[in-house]
Amino acid sequence: MLARVIPLLDHRQFVERQSAHSFAEPLVTGEVRDRLQRPLRDLRISVTDRCNFRCAYCMPKEVFGSDYQYLPHSSLLSFEEITRVARQFVALGVRKIRLTGGEPLLRKNLEELLVQLTTLNTPDGDAIDLTMTTNGSLLARKAVALKAAGLNRVTVSLDALDDRVFKRMNDVDFPVAKVLDGIEAAQAAGITNIKVNMVVQRGVNDQQIMPMARFFQGSGVALRFIEFMDVGSTNGWNMDAVLPSEAVIRTISEHMPLVRLQASAAGETAQRWGYAGPNGQHQPSLGEIGVISSVTQAFCGDCNRARLSTEGRLFTCLFAGQGFDLRHILRGTTTAEDEQLTRVINSVWRGRADRYSQMRSSVRQQNNSTHQRRPEMSYIGG
Ligand code: SAM
Ligand code: SF4
Ligand code: SF4
Repeated sequence: MLARVIPLLDHRQFVERQSAHSFAEPLVTGEVRDRLQRPLRDLRISVTDRCNFRCAYCMPKEVFGSDYQYLPHSSLLSFEEITRVARQFVALGVRKIRLTGGEPLLRKNLEELLVQLTTLNTPDGDAIDLTMTTNGSLLARKAVALKAAGLNRVTVSLDALDDRVFKRMNDVDFPVAKVLDGIEAAQAAGITNIKVNMVVQRGVNDQQIMPMARFFQGSGVALRFIEFMDVGSTNGWNMDAVLPSEAVIRTISEHMPLVRLQASAAGETAQRWGYAGPNGQHQPSLGEIGVISSVTQAFCGDCNRARLSTEGRLFTCLFAGQGFDLRHILRGTTTAEDEQLTRVINSVWRGRADRYSQMRSSVRQQNNSTHQRRPEMSYIGG
């Protein structure tokens, strides 16, 4: 009988410690730029490596089964530690913080973290743009508390409107209706900026593009189509399963005319398209869609995102093989010594030259030959 190979995941392999960098440089606060002159603007924080879904493209059941070893609670950054480190990121230019995971709403009392993060201000005194990506399963229950804690924006992941397709994709039999209830509850709670993310896989849910587009048109919710990415090492990615965003736009515009819209912010990942009215111009009441073409049209040139993993490692790219351990600094110093954190983050970002998506094929070949593994999305934060 052939033995089935199940990849083992041990996040310790992705750690890089202080020795790799020199911190003897003077402390610089204010805007920091990397080696490709990209500023640091966006911080994604994974608050848990656990999830109640088993989407095959992210946490396949064969790997994340009942015997999978999640991080113990003591390994996770506490809310105080997250806020402390986030404050240093803000001093260096971060303007937007996204909570993610795993499933962020599984982290107990997450509202308390939101309350703490809302106290952060930019050096000019402006509030930080705070948002969250969630699978929506617990949103109906938590929307009011999240809004009260200061959440004004949320992105809900939903890959299909058809229950059979969606249940097959989340692989835990979770129904579409409950996610839609969550979106409705978020709207009712006054969370004004709501987006829906749909990861499109050829032959899996591409037939759901039109039902999703029709359902969300004019609903006040912006639907975004994401190309299936080769994140991590367990989702069995191959290029044949990627449906290029261009094909998504072509499909929709055959039925519902679209016009290209300007990016609303520098470094924005989504290309925006508005639904056109009878005059051929964008009709705002019909809303807009976005496409995130991470595979077919890499946007590394503008990438201003840093990721803080569940246990406090700083990754400068979704596909980075190593993260920089900030937790040992957080736990080895007091808030009076936060300058050390700023210095380290500054140095790591200034040394950054990542542009994986632009170099995908050559890096994949190299990684295959060296059997190099990459951290999973649920750990590093999507
Ligand atoms: N559990 C939450 C959720 O699903 O929204 C937050 C974490 S999840 C890792 C963040 C986002 O990454 C989701 O929108 C998910 O669909 C997307 N994602 C996960 N794996 C992906 C992949 N291989 N390619 C593209 N997007 C992916
Ligand atoms: Fe969970 Fe989100 Fe990953 Fe799906 S995409 S398995 S909901 S973390
Ligand atoms: Fe940014 Fe890395 Fe993605 Fe390029 S591949 S856009 S550098 S996270």
